[in-house]
Amino acid sequence: MSGLDTLPPLRTVIAAHGLAARKSLGQNFLLDLNLTARIARAAGDLTGADVLEVGPGPGGLTRGLLSEGARRVLAVEKDSRCIPALQEIAATCPGRLTIIEGDALEIDPLAHLTPPIKVVANLPYNVGTELLVRWLTPPQWPPFWQSLTLMFQREVAERIVARPGSKAYGRLAILAQWRVEARIVMQLPPGAFSPPPKVSSSVVHITALPQPRFPADPQVLQDVVARAFNQRRKMLRAALRGVAPDIEDRLIAAGIAPTDRAETVPLEKFCALARSLAKV
Ligand code: SAM
Repeated sequence: MSGLDTLPPLRTVIAAHGLAARKSLGQNFLLDLNLTARIARAAGDLTGADVLEVGPGPGGLTRGLLSEGARRVLAVEKDSRCIPALQEIAATCPGRLTIIEGDALEIDPLAHLTPPIKVVANLPYNVGTELLVRWLTPPQWPPFWQSLTLMFQREVAERIVARPGSKAYGRLAILAQWRVEARIVMQLPPGAFSPPPKVSSSVVHITALPQPRFPADPQVLQDVVARAFNQRRKMLRAALRGVAPDIEDRLIAAGIAPTDRAETVPLEKFCALARSLAKV
């Protein structure tokens, strides 16, 4: 029996530390340790990897990551009330769990972790998309992480894996699919959480490709895609007016009809357009 197995059930931890969930911090806790172990396993083999966990809360997923063999876990939690509960977990695994009280948007995980690094988190809904976009747009590629295994509201998960022509297809799909492999690997009903959120959730497993699928300058691609989807119902010749004086010719050269709408244009053609605009 490992030290982790001697810890009390999460409901007891929550009661003992007064961790009534706060909506402002996106707190919907997972209390079933079988479920948190399954999420940890969805990240693949953790032995020999350092794991960044954002928002450990009372530590259900943290326990899963440690019991699945993570070499080290860095847990970044904004809510000071959770820290003593997390310290109890750390005491059972000497040297394997580092806890930082702070905002994940402001912390540099590389100051604390050694590659290979995996990110595993049940993300707070209010900062989840912002963190994902940051992880998908680092200054250098390949990124600091090998994989991201992340719980999102189902609607956000669907936007990551969406294909052209679907309602969910947009900036997030292109940012992601350009240089990662992304799959939805678990669906969870609201009742899996305490308190239950209004919507279902999904776990997305993302692995970094060594190189982008198609060449393009990251900033030019991000800018043109943002412009194109900012007015997703407009034809591209109107949505991209002013991006270049000859934008219609550049669209045609990239294989895109100027009357097309962004939501129908596949990644490959956005990359061709970005390559053309990089020369403006
Ligand atoms: N991992 C726990 C679980 O699965 O039960 C809790 C998940 S809960 C959805 C999100 C957690 O993120 C909460 O513990 C919340 O306090 C924390 N959190 C919210 N905003 C944060 C931020 N900016 N940085 C770090 N943690 C944050």
